[in-house]
Amino acid sequence: FSLLQRQDPEIAQVLLDELDRVRGGLQLIASENFTSPAVLAALGSTLTNKYAEGYPGRRYYGGCEVVDRAERLAIERARTLFGAEHANVQPHSGATANLAAYAALLQPGDTMLAMALPHGGHLTHGSKVNFSGRWFDVVSYGVRRDTELIDYDEVRALALRHQPKLIVCGATAYPRLIDYGAFRGIADEAGAWLLADVAHPIGLMAGGAIPSAVPYADVVTFTTHKALRGPRGGAILCTAELARKIDRAVFPFIQGGPLMHVVAAKAVAFAEAARPEFAGYTRRIVANAQALADALAVEGMRAVSGGTDTHLALIDLRDVGVSGAEAERRCAAAGITLNRNVIPYDPEPAAVTSGIRVGTPCVTTQGMGPQELKEVGTLVTLAVRDPGSVAEVRERVSALLAIHRPYLSEY
Ligand code: PLP
Repeated sequence: FSLLQRQDPEIAQVLLDELDRVRGGLQLIASENFTSPAVLAALGSTLTNKYAEGYPGRRYYGGCEVVDRAERLAIERARTLFGAEHANVQPHSGATANLAAYAALLQPGDTMLAMALPHGGHLTHGSKVNFSGRWFDVVSYGVRRDTELIDYDEVRALALRHQPKLIVCGATAYPRLIDYGAFRGIADEAGAWLLADVAHPIGLMAGGAIPSAVPYADVVTFTTHKALRGPRGGAILCTAELARKIDRAVFPFIQGGPLMHVVAAKAVAFAEAARPEFAGYTRRIVANAQALADALAVEGMRAVSGGTDTHLALIDLRDVGVSGAEAERRCAAAGITLNRNVIPYDPEPAAVTSGIRVGTPCVTTQGMGPQELKEVGTLVTLAVRDPGSVAEVRERVSALLAIHRPYLSEY
């Protein structure tokens, strides 16, 4: 780092300022986490220099025998961790993993059935502003108005009516368990492939805190940087039957050279997630999310669907009379980072929203437990309800952070 400071002080300062930012506030963004120094070391390595188009043992560049070892380790560790027949660890991101999976299974114009964005689905599940909505004929399902849970009867009816070639389950803002077995049954009945996009909960699945989608889906796509606590990136698991199709869709269809430093960092993260401590970590993430949702509910900030089974809660702010965008701003001013989020059947547009999404992977990595999350709930409530409480909230945030290991402080 001192070399960077001498050579490029402006960028060195950005790195320091970002570290200060995460150390100086509560990070409640559900899709973020703090990677280990070992993951950071692999990311900051000379493996970034190597071109390695192709797959281990079958590259289009010379000199790949060393980086091949990193990719083989990443593949084997992913397969073992998730009990999958095949793994592709090259996708640059979750969006790219989905693009590759669709490319393997669909032709442009084919029909797919996926969760609607305003109900918790991801942009890549058929939004009109995304390639998925532009290139495929997308039918969307959502959650029921009364329970705010996925309506499996609706999914089945839509699948039988529209005969999609692919059904996508998985979401970006759905706090409850998804019944992958029910989706498998529907896909079989409709003669469709089943893709589980578990970008969000894959870390919880790795640690056994929630049931895995892997035994049910033909293809599983995920990101490695959320609860899983790895480097920013994507990956795909699939059956042996689809292995060749998936590999060819990632390279050469949509990507060129893989990011070998990221592949190595993914291998590190998979090994970390296989340790017994990680199982405890994922259980604590869920317990913490439940404690936070309960604390907010007590203060009149209702959790959509009445709670959470995962690492995130979606909070309906309509009773508080503050928009999601305003709540995001007020929390930021008080040292709490979270994001606004549409809630199901939201009367407000996406730039405003009636909700916020809160997640516990970061604070759990910092060692906080349900007691602290109760305090976090009080602080979020104070910040959202009363902009005049900024100084008090900032002080109480600092008190929490003084006890709970600022990121990388122990290294
Ligand atoms: N799929 C889901 C369900 C997600 O939540 C996300 C990101 O939040 C993605 C895909 C895309 O991942 P990335 O941002 O790495 O492209």
